[in-house]
Amino acid sequence: MHEYDVIVVGAGGAGLRTAIAAQEAGADVAIVTKLHPVRSHTGAAEGGVNAALHPDDSVEDHAYETMKGSDYLADAPAVETFAENIPREVVQLERWGMAFSREEDGRISQRPFGGMAFPRTAYAGAETGHHLLHTMYEQVVKRGITVYDEWYVTRLVVTDEDDPADRRCHGVVAIDIGTGEVAGFHARNGVVLATGGAGQVFEHTTNAISNSADGMAMAYRAGVPLEDMEFIQFHPTTLPSTGVLITEGVRGEGGILYNAEGERFMFERGYANNAGELASRDVVSRAELTEVNEGRGIEDEYVHLDMRHLGEERIIDRLENIVHLAEDFEGVDPLEEPMPVKPGCHYTMGGIETDENGRTRIDGLYAAGECACVSMHGANRLGGNSLAELLVFGERAGRDAAGGEIEEPEVPTGRTDDAEEADFEPPVALGTAGVEPAPVADGGAMAASPADLVENAAESERARIDRLLERDDGVNHARIRATVQDTMGQHVNVFREESGLEQALRDVLEARSLYQEVHVEDPSRTFNTDLIQALETRNVIDVAETIVVGALAREEFRGAHWREKHQTRKDDEWLKHTFVSWNDGDPKLWYRPVVLEGEMQNYEPKERSY
Ligand code: FAD
Repeated sequence: MHEYDVIVVGAGGAGLRTAIAAQEAGADVAIVTKLHPVRSHTGAAEGGVNAALHPDDSVEDHAYETMKGSDYLADAPAVETFAENIPREVVQLERWGMAFSREEDGRISQRPFGGMAFPRTAYAGAETGHHLLHTMYEQVVKRGITVYDEWYVTRLVVTDEDDPADRRCHGVVAIDIGTGEVAGFHARNGVVLATGGAGQVFEHTTNAISNSADGMAMAYRAGVPLEDMEFIQFHPTTLPSTGVLITEGVRGEGGILYNAEGERFMFERGYANNAGELASRDVVSRAELTEVNEGRGIEDEYVHLDMRHLGEERIIDRLENIVHLAEDFEGVDPLEEPMPVKPGCHYTMGGIETDENGRTRIDGLYAAGECACVSMHGANRLGGNSLAELLVFGERAGRDAAGGEIEEPEVPTGRTDDAEEADFEPPVALGTAGVEPAPVADGGAMAASPADLVENAAESERARIDRLLERDDGVNHARIRATVQDTMGQHVNVFREESGLEQALRDVLEARSLYQEVHVEDPSRTFNTDLIQALETRNVIDVAETIVVGALAREEFRGAHWREKHQTRKDDEWLKHTFVSWNDGDPKLWYRPVVLEGEMQNYEPKERSY
């Protein structure tokens, strides 16, 4: 068994920032990650990171626009903490040597991004995430932080009190993908989940195959509610054949969207007043699909994104990798022709409920980055706010988990007595088919020491994996995952209709029951990616269910969540966050009000361009 003060699960931007902060606060830290750190999905982030750095910009404007972009479903205190702290984080990255693009006077370059009235997105060409990962990984190496890479965490070790609020997380169990060894990791202080988003729940996605919602599902099953899961961001500019992202930076630099009739539809058809192509992502995605649905799409599938007028020099200087992506993945040379684009699942606004210090309801369990929901993106995340979020809240989670000094949030998010039971009858009984017991610790919480609990959990996990590998036949996990992805792509996409959502729920429950017979073809122990994908598929199913349940219940149109029969934002009824609790496999839905009161509450922006 391995033992550390703090175990960070995941080595993307969130995990690396968390680990550095925990180590700085004096903790003995280890990172456990299924991918090598620099292969983490953060490396795919292209456009940049938002921060009010310029003297003409302000933290208040950043907070204001984040609230507005969230369609008023973000909590003001979390947004303020975020906007206040991100400039310091960007300066920190610069001091660690991150190769930001520069203006002639030496300032970090910043570009306009959707939903913001000031060019606030700091970038490193169109490879911001790549540079961010490399910069922070260098710090991890220099500081001697131990990294277990290609170790897949299969479960949390959490005591088994009835009320999740009384539970404590003591560690994790992981499988070494290279050897098949299963080992326990005891965390003396805390475990921080930094496992990224849930893009694999959908078929057409910009997310890597590794984004299978593992951390969300593990925390959920251990008793932490998932928050605002119905809010999935669909990015308007993905390549149709692969889902590969074409950064918003292209539109930020002046790229134009055209329909099949050659109309600049964002303006000409009045989708977004004067914001045009730089309206927020939900608005542009809906506009594109409306064009396609009304017969003005190209090949009935996509629209065009043109950047030729920017000129080769500027394109190569600022967006060179977009040229390569379009050529390699779509066979299109964007210096010569427009790129085909359509919306794809891009970002999970919801996630593991945390407060501003990354704490979950379970003592000793934290979350940061895309897997977490600190209630700052609400119904729609602004581009560039995710890298920013993982820096700010990753740093805070790491410091807190290490026992370092950190201020208590004034209005703690997610810790309210205002919880409201949902008035929601699912169209089919959610039930507990295919549900394993929640992964609490084996061996009796009172009797065993934390280290024993971790060891016992590792032992039972070894037995579970043996059983899985020894099973002779059953249903292939890829088929089960495809069932979920197909239905989510068809029915829980940009446009959501009630009957489609109901069908999606039935399909997800069917997948869950098929999973009882899941089969792993490859029985070997070494580099068994078949086994890993089978384990991931369980997480995809459980998290898909939370998305559909939340989407069905929310009868309004807010941000990324569009409902056919509910075409308005209903603040009287729906100014509240959705929570789904595991409840022994019979998901329970409840709500709490959005926190709109903050220090900047009465802030009036001086001049707006949208
Ligand atoms: P990730 O980077 O996904 O890292 C997750 C880590 O968890 C990985 O190291 C993985 O190995 C590990 N992990 C997962 N499950 C397990 C497990 N079971 N056991 C062990 N380890 C596990 N945001 C912006 O702000 N600006 C942008 O320009 C931008 N561009 C983007 C472009 C693309 C193509 C995409 C898809 C997203 C973009 N985003 C952008 C969003 C942003 O990149 C992500 O939200 C962010 O990088 C997520 O970071 P993370 O550290 O939370 O997760």
